[in-house]
Amino acid sequence: CGIVGYFGEKSAVPILVEGLRKLEYRGYDSSGIAVMEEGGIRITKSVGKLVNLEEKLGNRTYNARIGIGHTRWATHGRPSDVNAHPHMDCHGDFAVVHNGIIENYLELREWLTAEGHLFRSETDTEVLAHLVEHFYKGDLQDAVKKMLAKVEGSYAVVVLSYKNPDVMVAARKDSPLIVGIGDGEYFVASDIPAVLKYTRKTYIMEDGEMVTVSAEGLKFSDFTTGECVEKSVFEVTWD
Ligand code: GLU
Repeated sequence: CGIVGYFGEKSAVPILVEGLRKLEYRGYDSSGIAVMEEGGIRITKSVGKLVNLEEKLGNRTYNARIGIGHTRWATHGRPSDVNAHPHMDCHGDFAVVHNGIIENYLELREWLTAEGHLFRSETDTEVLAHLVEHFYKGDLQDAVKKMLAKVEGSYAVVVLSYKNPDVMVAARKDSPLIVGIGDGEYFVASDIPAVLKYTRKTYIMEDGEMVTVSAEGLKFSDFTTGECVEKSVFEVTWD
């Protein structure tokens, strides 16, 4: 339902939680975040309101500068801690948040299970984490592109990998996604209010587009053809 991603120099956790709060108006049944820490990707998630997630996060200081967050409106699998996003592959190397519905998830789940993947949740989304792990050969953008080629349905999706800890990849089809450009930092979100506190400079993603966020900046491409896409900045003028 709601997506936020942060890539920059600040502590990601408070920015993600605050971004999710700005998206609460859309309604949700659970929430969660994944942040890139020294030893791996750390996931915290909870059914219910954002305060439940905040309680689990506690007062501890988080060093992570990259992370993704999600508020879920369940379509496949009941609202629960396990079914909340982000979802991960078996080894905990990839984390995915997703809005929308993966129509062919049962078929993909069967195939991936036969390939040895172990599923933990009842969601359609979890196939994305296993797919990206399946296709990963050293380049996260390439793995996400191959993952999307297998998937039917609607999605705004953001992927992190501990194997490529300095990039964040996002894509959309039939579900909104924007990118916010701050001062040496980037945001991705399902809606502008999540980033307005930090920037008014945005890119509005179109169907079929993906973006790779890294220290070098943003790289937009068409995930079907692989060709680069030139985009212009959309300056938000409202509050
Ligand atoms: N279909 C996914 C799920 O049920 C995503 C739902 C959403 O957009 O929040 O987990």
